[in-house]
Formats: sequence, structure tokens, C-alpha cells
Amino acid sequence: MAFVLPKLPYADSDLDPVISAETIGFHYGKHHNTYVVNLNNLTKDSPLADASLDDVIAQTYGKADKVGLYNNAAQIWNHTFYWNSMKKGGGGAPTGRIADKINADFGSYDAFRTAFSTAALGQFGSGWAWLVNDAGKLKIVKTANADGPGWMGAGKPLMVVDVWEHAYYIDYRNRRADYVSAFLDKLVNWEFADSQLG
Ligand code: MN
Repeated sequence: MAFVLPKLPYADSDLDPVISAETIGFHYGKHHNTYVVNLNNLTKDSPLADASLDDVIAQTYGKADKVGLYNNAAQIWNHTFYWNSMKKGGGGAPTGRIADKINADFGSYDAFRTAFSTAALGQFGSGWAWLVNDAGKLKIVKTANADGPGWMGAGKPLMVVDVWEHAYYIDYRNRRADYVSAFLDKLVNWEFADSQLG
């Protein structure tokens, strides 16, 4: 059973103009797909060829001799979660259960928004900013490169923004702040985040 590129939950052009079809074409069609091709090549004819993505990550995280396997597997996981964290016409303050949790744990949506932006802009170089559920309390976590909080013991992911330059350079050039603002105000799929509360 080869690893497969999961289908996008929307059409390539659905997030335009916040994220263009051209960015989706490169980010999903080239970057995400390359991680899948690489992982299949790296696991071919090995016991990991039939493992689940979660198992590959669990068996390679923190192992210096398995860094290639880990990076590709973790990036497949992170990107799939990122696509699910967005939807056409999303963003802004949530409602319902996730809104109640945000208000309880951050004080207000505005306080959450400021903290999330600070994490996303403060991640030096490539990485991710996450909203996680850490043993019942919502927290914001940033991770570098391919790392993710789920397997690092830093909480269960609820939603994520990709702050690698490839996520925004076509549409926003160097302006990560504009990309993160647009992600928060126009794209976040709060129904998906709420569903991850369990
Ligand atoms: Mn990416």
C-alpha cells in the first residue's frame, strides 16, 4: 500500500484571491506531492512500506538516521491538516463550542488572534503555527520545519497555518504578516477545528 496524496477538500481556485490557484498548484501539486513521492521511494521494499503515516512518524521522530523518512512523512501529515484548516469564506471569530473554549482559555477572540499571529510571525524560518488542545486547555504552539505538536507531546492539533515561504511567496512575496492576517480573517475552517476537539 503506497502512501497517497489526499484529495484537497476544495477546488484549486476556491481560496482565491486569498490563496491563488497558482499557489495551490505549486504548494499542493508540487511540494505536498513531492513529499508523497519521496516517502514512497524511501519506504519501498522496507517494513515501513505498509505502515500508516502515523506509524512512520512515530517510528522516525527524533532518530538522526531516519530524518529523511521523518521529514517527508511529517510534512505529508502537516500539509493534509493545513488544507483541512481552511475553507472558502472562512475565518473571523468562530461560534459555538470552539468559540467558548477560545474565550475561556485566551480571554477573547482578539487575544487569541494576537497570540496566534505573534507565534506565526515569530517562527524564524520555516515552520508552522498551531492551535492545539493540550489536556483540555487550548494553546498556541509553533514548530520548526516538519515538526508537529501531536507527536511531540505538545497537544492535539485543532488547526494550523503553514509559514514556510512556499505557502505565501507567490501571493504575498515576503509579507508573511499579510498572509497570516488573511488566513485568520478569511480562511480558517472553524468547523474543522471544532471537530478536532473530539
Ligand atoms: Mn508547505
